[in-house]
Amino acid sequence: MADILVAEVQDLRAGYGEIQVLWGIDLAVPAGEITALIGSNGAGKTTLMRALSGLIPAQCTRYRTDGVDLAGATAAQIIAQGIVHVPEGRRLFGAMSVEDNLLMGAYSRNIRRADLRRDLDRVYSTFPKLRERRGQAAATLSGGEQQMCAIGRGLMAAPRLLMIDELSLGLSPLLVEQLVAALRELNSQGMSILLVEQDVTVALELCHSAYVMDMGRIVRTGQGHQLLADPIIRDAYLGVP
Ligand code: ATP
Repeated sequence: MADILVAEVQDLRAGYGEIQVLWGIDLAVPAGEITALIGSNGAGKTTLMRALSGLIPAQCTRYRTDGVDLAGATAAQIIAQGIVHVPEGRRLFGAMSVEDNLLMGAYSRNIRRADLRRDLDRVYSTFPKLRERRGQAAATLSGGEQQMCAIGRGLMAAPRLLMIDELSLGLSPLLVEQLVAALRELNSQGMSILLVEQDVTVALELCHSAYVMDMGRIVRTGQGHQLLADPIIRDAYLGVP
């Protein structure tokens, strides 16, 4: 499984108008694994996820998923290939119910009602809280439940790679633990995950491998447990020698 790359990028450059943010990113995300992106504020992690989702224009010499060429593809084409982005800040439709938000994730899929129901049930079994609250407006959910709903909406798009930006931002340690457990479960069922996470300990304990970004470049990469023990990483991101 690990030989298959669910996302493979070479020399990716992107930014906002005249401002270049990413300066030649090489990334290989193995299928079936959790890969983390860490780095200080402004390092370019969100920008990289936006570029991979086709939300901002990017140049690269290669962008592929499992052999399929995605260089220059639109956001819709990228989602159709199963690269699905759960954005920072969750971006739910606050006035709509939890279930309608989840169904929005499947909007572009042409599937039968029974399959939609089966996928909803899968999301509800991963996040039982969402089943309890399925008729409630999304805006009335707690922060952790909103994150569950945003991830659930991503799952409804049938991802091959689920990209989650800022999993734990603003959430209590208990909720973070629940979300981490849910991601481990999804991964054990085969889901590939690319995670941006500002809590470096959470990220490195959860992931198989990680990329460290600084000023729009990848400056280090390795297995999670190796980076967790790396004195440079500990000093720079964990505040301990
Ligand atoms: P954070 O953890 O703070 O979200 P990040 O690593 O995700 O950081 P990005 O949000 O990708 O970093 O930001 C990288 C750089 O791009 C920063 O210098 C930021 O100011 C700039 N930037 C981000 N969004 C925009 C935008 N819409 N227009 C112009 N510059 C932007």
